Amino acid sequence: MLVGAARSGDARSLARLVSLVENGSPELRPVMRAVAPHTGNARVIGLTGSPGVGKSTVTDQLVRAYRAAGLRVSVLAVDPTSPFSGGALLGDRVRMQDHATDSGVFIRSMASRGHLGGLSWSAPQALHILDAAGFDVICVETVGVGQAEVEVAGLADTTLVVLAPGLGDSIQTAKAGILEIADVFVVNKSDRPGANDVSRDLRSMLAMAPDRRGWRPPIVLTAASAGTGVDELVARVAEHWEWLGESGVLRERRVARAREEVSAIAVADIRRRLGGLPGESRLDELAELVATGKLDPYSAADDLLAG
Ligand code: GDP
Repeated sequence: MLVGAARSGDARSLARLVSLVENGSPELRPVMRAVAPHTGNARVIGLTGSPGVGKSTVTDQLVRAYRAAGLRVSVLAVDPTSPFSGGALLGDRVRMQDHATDSGVFIRSMASRGHLGGLSWSAPQALHILDAAGFDVICVETVGVGQAEVEVAGLADTTLVVLAPGLGDSIQTAKAGILEIADVFVVNKSDRPGANDVSRDLRSMLAMAPDRRGWRPPIVLTAASAGTGVDELVARVAEHWEWLGESGVLRERRVARAREEVSAIAVADIRRRLGGLPGESRLDELAELVATGKLDPYSAADDLLAG
């Protein structure tokens, strides 16, 4: 019922479905079954980069651009580093207000609230729901830092790595392995000094990078707060989309994504079964034995799995 309502554009039902994911609700099982036949149409764009580079601002500009092209757009802001914030508290901020009366836009922040699967468990399921609800484009934006920045690439068809001058970003980038995950580089705040240096550094790093089956990640300069460079960004993303289809990489990425998703669900399920509630499970008994040297950890693990 919720799924039907969400598919016919009811934002409240959609929000409730995303909450089910966020809370790891058992109701998700039938929901996912109902949703599955309607998935596979949305293009997923991931945006990643250090805090403050302008991801939200770039995302906002993309939303505008895609809306102007008549597409329905959703934004999912994921914050894997902060398990307690979520829902409407975070990220949605001022942005939602701009689009509040536009049923073609749905913006939502999501944290994985402490259930066993984390972001790799929850984000793909939220994407399925948004996909089935008929959004043409879904922007996934990371709020956290660190590993989250790289993780988002696993969720997206096209990953935008956003950088800005003045944050020492080009150096950080090489370290964090972000170079490998970028399909398109966005050098934002190009109205500030240093943007050309960032883009030059990137270019020289990219010159040494291995071939990516014919795709050379372009570098787009934007000043997102003024809307500059957004048209070019949209064009580069469209080119990447075309390449994804022609090269067969789209299919590969989606299969890889599904693989991660299925294994995240399975692993979370196994952990739940093995772990049980603290103080009640076989795991606690075994842990006691291992901690006091009465049992070795391999035998304990065998015992646990056999149960
Ligand atoms: P996020 O943390 O990466 O999502 O960054 P935000 O989009 O929240 O932007 C961080 C700050 O940079 C905000 O104050 C923005 O107004 C500002 N900002 C974003 N884009 C630009 C830009 O192109 N030029 C300048 N000068 N400031 C920008």
